[in-house]
Amino acid sequence: MESLPFQYQKRAFWEFICPICKKERRSSYWPSPRTRHYWQLAAVGLFVTACGWPFFGFRGFFLIFPIWGTFEFIYRSRARQSLTCPHCGFDPYLYKYDVKLARAKVEEFFAEKKKQQDAKKSSKNPPTP
Ligand SMILES: [Zn+2]
Repeated sequence: MESLPFQYQKRAFWEFICPICKKERRSSYWPSPRTRHYWQLAAVGLFVTACGWPFFGFRGFFLIFPIWGTFEFIYRSRARQSLTCPHCGFDPYLYKYDVKLARAKVEEFFAEKKKQQDAKKSSKNPPTP
């Protein structure tokens, strides 16, 4: 089970280790929607068709396509957001498409973190005149 590629593993979570900070990460989202999501979409499609039957008839089923598109967009953006490491700001999706931009984002994350720590230190110990 452990040696199978992730798409064949039957787990509720997607587990991996962050390549930068080496901390164990876990995402409850998969890169693409699972089979049960498509069954749920089919159920929503039937419900929408039934609700719109007096107005659209069978053509109401085609309303599922904009709903499907919206669902895929939201699901994939949330899955991507869940993969971004909260400890170092590494974004695997961004790394796949633009390595330099991903590096810049990690540097930006650490610069922001350092700035916040400095602000905390200065608020705890205000400079004495
Ligand atoms: Zn990390």
